[in-house]
Amino acid sequence: MTARVLDGTKIRDEIFAELKSDISRLAGEGIRPGLAAVLVGENPASQLYVKSKIAASEQLGIASWMHTPHASVTTDQMLRLVDTLNKDDAVDGILIQLPLPSQVDSKRVLEAVDPAKDVDGFHPVSLGRLVSGRPGLVACTPAGCMEILRRNNIPIEGANAVVLGRSDIVGKPMALLLMHANATVTICHSKTRDLPGVVRRADIVVAAMGKAGYVQADWIRPGAAVIDVGTNKITDAKEAEPLLRNFPMRLQKFREKGSVLIGDVHPDAVNTAGALTPVPGGVGPMTITMLMNNTVKAARLRRNNVSSKAENVQSTAGAR
Ligand code: NAP
Repeated sequence: MTARVLDGTKIRDEIFAELKSDISRLAGEGIRPGLAAVLVGENPASQLYVKSKIAASEQLGIASWMHTPHASVTTDQMLRLVDTLNKDDAVDGILIQLPLPSQVDSKRVLEAVDPAKDVDGFHPVSLGRLVSGRPGLVACTPAGCMEILRRNNIPIEGANAVVLGRSDIVGKPMALLLMHANATVTICHSKTRDLPGVVRRADIVVAAMGKAGYVQADWIRPGAAVIDVGTNKITDAKEAEPLLRNFPMRLQKFREKGSVLIGDVHPDAVNTAGALTPVPGGVGPMTITMLMNNTVKAARLRRNNVSSKAENVQSTAGAR
């Protein structure tokens, strides 16, 4: 049987529609959420990401500003910019596009962002709030994965969830969100023994390793839900062909284009999983969606002084 496709694009459209009505409600109170993006240098991938984030803001009616320091910017100059944005009341969210150039102390810059405006959810205060289940801004990609699970009615409470990867921006917050939602969570990393055996026990698998097609189809328990966070661009035919051997149309497209995006889960898992996010079109669209959600949430939290009971990390987008 073929897995149910967990379509991130469809959920993005749903959440955008909800955000639009939230934003017009806020407009009635004289509030316009605002997002300031900082893009250093001319990295083409970063430029593309920031442009998409600004375009999404414009689509929703969120005010946006783009700051583009030169690639030779110093840590002090970046800290001064962050300070200005922290003090600007029109700015609800500050987004520092990574990576920063090597001469800049990225950690210091990220930690200088006011946690109330930390729409990426990378600040240690945001992570600390997530650990203790207190209201705050949650990292966008894992928050998006939770929305995919919830909006597809995939049971989380009591489920065995296996998270592959323990990065600060995906694996760790993902595991915490699943734990807060009452899953029994196992976190795996490069030193985990018998990865296939651990994955085989999972009702929910979240793969965030950055290894194209690493998780084999026969590791997936039949019927399990698989959230594939990996986005690996493959350009080598020797690598693409075994991954796409059962997908002639995708293989044909690869040959025409010279590249293909592959998740961390082998595409053949579509025949074992019960539900699966496609790559592209699964988790990808959710990251920008949750950034928009966080910007609107920050606009409200900053003014409500984090008082509402509904504003808790266990209900991510539901916390609007
Ligand atoms: P990362 O910081 O490189 O972390 C990778 C994690 O995977 C590490 O914890 C590493 O373990 C673990 N790992 C690596 N090889 C492994 C193996 N053979 N077995 C078990 N675990 C292994 O990556 P990340 O930033 O979390 O991103 C992960 C993937 O998600 C990447 O493909 C990235 O492009 C993608 N991503 C997508 C989005 C999106 O919007 N779709 C957003 C963010 C990230 P150790 O800790 O032991 O090294």
